[in-house]
Amino acid sequence: MFSNATSTLPPLYARWMEHVLSDRIPDETDATCADCAMCSADITQRSGSELFYNPETKCCTFTPTLPNFLVGRILRDDDALCAQGRRSVEARLGAGLAVTPLGVGPPLTFRSLYAATSTEAFGRSKTLRCPHYLEEGGGRCGIWKHRESVCTTFYCKHVRGAVGSKFWKSLQRLLLATEQSLAQWCVYELDVGVEALGFLFSSNPSCTPDHQPNGLALDGKVDRRLYDMAWGTWSGREQEFYREAARLVDGLEWPDILAIGGTELRICERLVRDAYSRLMSKDLPPFLERGRMSVSQMGHASWRVTTYSATDPLSCPRSLISALPYFDGRSTVESMSLIEQREGIRLSAGLVRKLADFEILIPGEGRPKD
Ligand code: SF4
Ligand code: SF4
Repeated sequence: MFSNATSTLPPLYARWMEHVLSDRIPDETDATCADCAMCSADITQRSGSELFYNPETKCCTFTPTLPNFLVGRILRDDDALCAQGRRSVEARLGAGLAVTPLGVGPPLTFRSLYAATSTEAFGRSKTLRCPHYLEEGGGRCGIWKHRESVCTTFYCKHVRGAVGSKFWKSLQRLLLATEQSLAQWCVYELDVGVEALGFLFSSNPSCTPDHQPNGLALDGKVDRRLYDMAWGTWSGREQEFYREAARLVDGLEWPDILAIGGTELRICERLVRDAYSRLMSKDLPPFLERGRMSVSQMGHASWRVTTYSATDPLSCPRSLISALPYFDGRSTVESMSLIEQREGIRLSAGLVRKLADFEILIPGEGRPKD
C-alpha cells in the first residue's frame, strides 16, 4: 500500500489498484487533454498520413458501457461539479435503451454506427459524440470521477510509447473484467428473480438485453416486454437498484474482488503487474534491431515517423535515422559504440531507450553480425 499512488485513476479504481501496483502510475503528460494534443481547427487538414481530431469531440466519439455500480455512484454523487454528468446518465436511464440490471450500454444505433465507421470517424464525428461530453471549458467529461475502464485507460499518446500503451491496455483488461464480474455479482446479490436471471444470462447472447437487434431498438424505442423481463423483481425501481449496487461494491476491498472474479481476474492482475514493471524499468534491451516504421513527413533536418500507433508519431533527426542500420542484431552497447566511432554521434542510453519504447528499434536475437 502507498499513498496517492494511482491518482490518475478514478477514486474507486485508484483504491483497488493500490493493492495491485507497488508505486504510482506515471502521468501521461503528452496527452494534454485540456488543450487536446490531437485537435486541429480544420479536421479536413492532414499532415502526411497523420490524423487530427475534432475540437468539438476530442477522442470522446464513444458511448461507454457503465456497469451498475458506477451508475449508482454517479446517481448518488451530489457534488455540484457532477450535476450535469448525473443528468446525462439520468437521460440514458429515461430513454431506457440497453438499460438493464447489469448496467447501461450503448444504444443499438450507436453500436451499429461505431462498428461501421471505424477509425476514420473516431475523434472526428459529432454524431458519435459521447452523451456525457460537456462542451464548456473546451470539452470536459461529465462523469470523470466515475468513468469506466475504457475512458480510464485511453491515452492517444504515451510518454513511453508502446511500453506505456501495453501497460494501459493490460489495465483496461483488468478493470473491464472487474466491472463485468462485479456487475454480475450485484445482479445475483440483489436478487432480480430467476426469470430475469435466465433472461440476462441466456446462453444465446443475441437474446440478452444489450443485444436486441430489433426494429424498435433501431428507431430508439424500448421493447417494454423485454425491458421488464430483464428487470424482474426490480422493474420500476431501477435507480434504487443501481444505488444498492454502488453500496454493495463500496464495501469490497481488492482481495474480496479477487475472490468474486476468480482466476480470470488473477490472470489479468498478473499481466498488469508485469506490464507495470516494464513501464517502470529503465533497462535497455541487450540486443536491438530496426523495427518497422512509416514516414509521414520527410523534412530536411528531421523525419516524422509512425510506429506503434497512428496517434503517436515521433520526429527524428535525419542523422539519427541514418544511424539506425548499425542496430543490426549485435549488442546494443556495440551498436552505440560503432555509431560514435564511424558517425561521430554519441547516443545517450535515454535516447536509445526512447527509440526502443517507440519500437523504432525492437529487441533483436543477439546474432553476431560481420
Ligand atoms: S487523450 Fe483524448 S482528449 Fe486527451 S489529448 Fe488525447 S485525444 Fe485529446
Ligand atoms: S465518459 Fe467521459 S471520457 Fe468517456 S467518452 Fe464520455 S465524455 Fe469522454
